[in-house]
Amino acid sequence: MYMYSKSLEERCNRILRDMEGSLTARDRVGIQDFVLLDAYTSESAFLDNLRKRFHENLIYTYIGTLLVSVNPYKELGIYTKKQMDIYMGVNLFELPPHIYALADNVYRTMLTETNNHFILISGESGAGKTEASKKILQFYAVSCRSTKLLDNVRDRLLLSNPVLEAFGNAKTLKNDNSSRFGKYMDIQFDHAGGAVGGHILSYLLEKSRVVHQNHGERNFHIFYQLVEGGEEDLLRWLGLQRTCQHYSYLVQLGEGECAKVSSINDKSDWKTVRKALNVIEFSESNVESLFAIIASVLHLGNVTFLADSRGYATLNNSPEIHWLSKLLGIPAQVIQVGLTHRKIEARSEEVLSPFTVDHAVYARDALAKAIYGRTFTWLVNMLNESLANKDSSRKTVIGLLDIYGFEVFNVNSFEQFCINYCNERLQQLFIQLTLKSEQDEYEIEGIEWEPVPYFNNKIICDLVEEKFKGIISVLDEECLRPGEATDMTFLEKLEEKMAGHPHFITHKLANQKTRKTLKRGDFRLVHYAGEVTYCVSGFLDKNNDLLYRSIKEVMRQSKNAIIQNCFPTTEPDSKKRPETVATQFKSSLVGLTEILMSKEPWYVRCIKPNESKQPGCFDDVLVRHQVKYLGLMEHLRVRRAGFAYRRRYEIFLQRYKPLCPDTWPNWKGTAIEGVELLVRHLGYKPDEYKMGRTKIFIRHPRTLFATEDAFEVC
Ligand code: ADP
Ligand code: MG
Repeated sequence: MYMYSKSLEERCNRILRDMEGSLTARDRVGIQDFVLLDAYTSESAFLDNLRKRFHENLIYTYIGTLLVSVNPYKELGIYTKKQMDIYMGVNLFELPPHIYALADNVYRTMLTETNNHFILISGESGAGKTEASKKILQFYAVSCRSTKLLDNVRDRLLLSNPVLEAFGNAKTLKNDNSSRFGKYMDIQFDHAGGAVGGHILSYLLEKSRVVHQNHGERNFHIFYQLVEGGEEDLLRWLGLQRTCQHYSYLVQLGEGECAKVSSINDKSDWKTVRKALNVIEFSESNVESLFAIIASVLHLGNVTFLADSRGYATLNNSPEIHWLSKLLGIPAQVIQVGLTHRKIEARSEEVLSPFTVDHAVYARDALAKAIYGRTFTWLVNMLNESLANKDSSRKTVIGLLDIYGFEVFNVNSFEQFCINYCNERLQQLFIQLTLKSEQDEYEIEGIEWEPVPYFNNKIICDLVEEKFKGIISVLDEECLRPGEATDMTFLEKLEEKMAGHPHFITHKLANQKTRKTLKRGDFRLVHYAGEVTYCVSGFLDKNNDLLYRSIKEVMRQSKNAIIQNCFPTTEPDSKKRPETVATQFKSSLVGLTEILMSKEPWYVRCIKPNESKQPGCFDDVLVRHQVKYLGLMEHLRVRRAGFAYRRRYEIFLQRYKPLCPDTWPNWKGTAIEGVELLVRHLGYKPDEYKMGRTKIFIRHPRTLFATEDAFEVC
């Protein structure tokens, strides 16, 4: 039935030979689309297929148009220019599954249908999301229309990545290059398919990492890159020594002591970042200001305080203060006072109140986090200016969503709470866009259908985000009671409000057996992806993210252009309560959902084969768990029982009517009658399609591709 042109057939054969020798050896290499799996309802068969393919270095498998990817933890040589050429302009199912095939299909669908798309890349930390998003971007950079002007845009799109990674990624226990912020990137295309611009949205950078890292983890890459790779002159100018051990924010006693990571070459990464900043056209003065800030954060971390006779914090005129003063362009005296005092209002008068040593350390760290966080936002804005499409003509976009994956550590804090909440939200979106909407549509269209049950995680989303009732609301309420509320009162309030909720457990609420696994300061959420125990310590503080007004005033005196931009004089003062971190994050996720809902979805589901970052090792238990919570079996069932393609009768007829003498050139009847004649003429078998109320449903994409090819030939 499938007709493709001779040249295409030859091309495919050559490719298949090149790639795997014999793809027909089904036993050995498994099946490339789970929809075609015989025992498609069995999780074990699913796993067998995935494992078989993994051991043959075939890391990609489809479920219809969804791409499943298993991290190989080794270079496979499948991302060459030659491979890109092979996948360009070829239908999804003609070649072995590949991220390029998906990227190419999204691109061509966007061009033919002139609409917007997004690719949601999900999976837990270290599963390969960021790599997948980079591969997609590289594919577009190579495959799309090229002109001198467009090449410039392309280079900027590509090089925005190493810059963002340097400032926003870090080594964690899960991943040596873990994204510590969420990223959504629109790539904008003109009507001829040339990439003309881009726009990046970033989500909640994990700022706390600047001042503290867990054992075996590192601070953001850029610090090590600068210290290891920075030119002699530059380091001298910044007052930095070439030893990471010298900086307490980089190696805290007994904690984040791992400056060197075998998989990371800080020196060469530094060169890449420097080059990227040039291409993105950061001015020399901006680059200087940027590194002055990075160095300032390191100096700030080395500032220590002594207690005077009354126990208040004092500072010697230490070298750190000297460098901070020089690099930030703020008088040393002003910094010194700012780090050891805060202004308070007493009887309508402002007076300076001295800090204790602990308080001063806290204020210092808050400042370091604020400087870094705001600089990161500035950086994203600069990248966006550089990527902005100057031409206002009509364009369509492909959005790439690479957001931090589900995370479970031994100790989980506010950051993991936010990250995992974000994953719940994305899972909800996936459910709404695939499992639910798919089934709703069959019902609306009157297509006979056996519903596929699935777990709807809305209950967990509500538990976290519901107005007045959810965990975030309770947290915000507690943040409104400074001086009285503590992390423990927050936990008590949760226990009061959430008692009996099937997804919320604490020491007090648990049964005897579970209680043993919980500490008094913990709460446990039963996420869609598994149970996570959070330690409440630091929740209030991180959610408030307070920076004293007086230290902001100090920063406003800075001569450093970026700091001036990040601490504008127009910033509303803390008299009005700013939105808390969790609430801001929640709003940004609502915004993201809206952006995504207006576009056509595509999915890449990334799977982590083992916990030890080893090539060739496929941990059945670990993979099975991911297959389960990613909802892959449900997706497969819906796909398998359902219809891959649907088109409104009018559109279908409009496009394909030249293929049938009864409908061409002028069809006078209704669209549905026209389509009936057309598909009969094309020889569609009864089980290949169904006629709904307003649309034709086609079971397998091959059927449509064949029609499409016939159309192209004619
Ligand atoms: P995530 O973004 O999901 O946390 P990454 O994309 O950063 O994970 O992947 C973690 C590491 O796994 C990468 O640094 C790389 O070493 C390896 N990796 C991921 N995907 C691939 C791939 N397709 N081919 C080879 N190695 C990969
Ligand atoms: Mg990542």
